[in-house]
Amino acid sequence: LLGDTIGDNFDRAVAAHGDREALVERATGRRWTYRELAAEVDAVARGLLGLGVGKGDRVGIWAPNGAEWVFTQYATAKIGAILVNINPAYRVHELRYVLNQAGIRTLIAAPSFKTSDYAAMIEEARPDCAALRDVVLIGDESWDSLVRAESTADLAAIGRTLSADDPINIQYTSGTTGFPKGATLSHHNILNNGFFIGELCHYTERDRICIPVPFYHCFGMVLGNLAATSHGACVVIPAPAFDAGATLAAVAEEECTSLYGVPTMFIAILAQPAVDNVDLSALRTGIMAGSPCPVEVMKQVIERLGMTEVAICCGMTETSPVSAQTRADDSIDRRVSTVGRVHPHLEVKIIDPETGLTVPRGVPGEFCTRGYSVMLGYWNQPDKTAEAIDSARWMHTGDLAVMDDDGYLTITGRIKDMVIRGGENIYPREIEEFLYTHPRILDAQVIGVPDKRYGEELMAWVRMREGVEPVTAEEIREYCAGKIAHYKIPRYVHVVTEFPMTVTGKIRKVEMRQAAVEILG
Ligand code: ATP
Ligand code: MG
Repeated sequence: LLGDTIGDNFDRAVAAHGDREALVERATGRRWTYRELAAEVDAVARGLLGLGVGKGDRVGIWAPNGAEWVFTQYATAKIGAILVNINPAYRVHELRYVLNQAGIRTLIAAPSFKTSDYAAMIEEARPDCAALRDVVLIGDESWDSLVRAESTADLAAIGRTLSADDPINIQYTSGTTGFPKGATLSHHNILNNGFFIGELCHYTERDRICIPVPFYHCFGMVLGNLAATSHGACVVIPAPAFDAGATLAAVAEEECTSLYGVPTMFIAILAQPAVDNVDLSALRTGIMAGSPCPVEVMKQVIERLGMTEVAICCGMTETSPVSAQTRADDSIDRRVSTVGRVHPHLEVKIIDPETGLTVPRGVPGEFCTRGYSVMLGYWNQPDKTAEAIDSARWMHTGDLAVMDDDGYLTITGRIKDMVIRGGENIYPREIEEFLYTHPRILDAQVIGVPDKRYGEELMAWVRMREGVEPVTAEEIREYCAGKIAHYKIPRYVHVVTEFPMTVTGKIRKVEMRQAAVEILG
């Protein structure tokens, strides 16, 4: 395990790889070597000190992906301030909640992006946020004066006052199952997780990693930025927010060796007409995470994008995030059907959620993990922390998983999404995989809806491929008959063009269940 702080680790990368490219922002064509990046980081760090920000103070960042996000990430780490990642999709009431919940003192934000006028929302929230002193808008005068602040502060001396176990980051969970919670993480938590993710991807200073996933989420900030800098690799930002065409162009033109995404992003990239014509020959690896990947999509990622070493990662914000990952030499079969094995230095166990006892291999239960990666706690929510982390320091993830005899883990769903129909436990994931094989169905999600007779009944939401007739419930019943157990055949079928999603690309089944109740009257 690495024992140092994020700032120390960053400085080591600068010393070792100073003249190598560290960061590319495609939207503006700006590029930085490690040495140039370090100068930007130090300027922001000094600017923050000039505003009076010190160790433990919360600095919010509210912006889509861009270089300033990265500068701020390392600048806060260097001075021991706690970076609070704010979801770029938030509206004013959510912003107000986060500013107050985390007690943000300084907020760095993009002035606007697409239809979001961040500056106006900040002004609206500000009178209700007592802790908020400074707002710095990226690209605005306030940013210029931040980075031009004259300061003789000795950053190295400040670095020596920091400890790897200090809190350095508050990341809010995706809000897939309810209101997001602020996971408080230390240098030690996220730096090590990023480092081991990079180790398992075999990153070196020759790697160039294309990151279309949001920095505000651990996927971009830890699996992306920290895995890259802890190995001297280069981060390529294809666009401020996910854009399939821009991502594909970035991979080809920047000769990226690694590409990240949630399954829905890979589905969009594979649907680009250019995908088979551009040169993706440098691409060797990448990470797919966040939600289950349909087997067919994984096969295409390997075959058509040439990501022969692509890894599946599984984790959660509360565990820095990754606790299991496939290895580059795992068979394709393992990489399409499992989330790999436990990460180095971590423990995993699968328990019966009722009794708390470890279940035998092959039996599904709740996925629990323990080790350096477990968060310090939920920010200012001790009750929630106590529900999630038990007295023996095991993090109870709320995910259902099975471990096979060789230690490979498969996520079978979330406890909250499991459907109990007439006493039978049903894992929606299994039915979704099956519906995906239907030639006219592009994507499928299955939920439980209340039912008088069985307690719950199954409802499938399906997205159709372009130009085909929508499926009917009758057709689905016929398609499933004899191929999956009768009680797993969806009773209701609802055709949609989109699923309700979080910004991190996860399907919000809570919202689907609420909508379903209305649809069924
Ligand atoms: P909230 O906790 O606010 O409801 P969330 O759990 O979606 O939202 P995150 O911390 O971003 O917030 O996501 C962690 C969850 O994502 C895990 O608990 C798991 O359910 C799911 N997940 C992550 N990776 C995978 C994967 N490879 N396969 C299946 N599910 C995954
Ligand atoms: Mg969660």
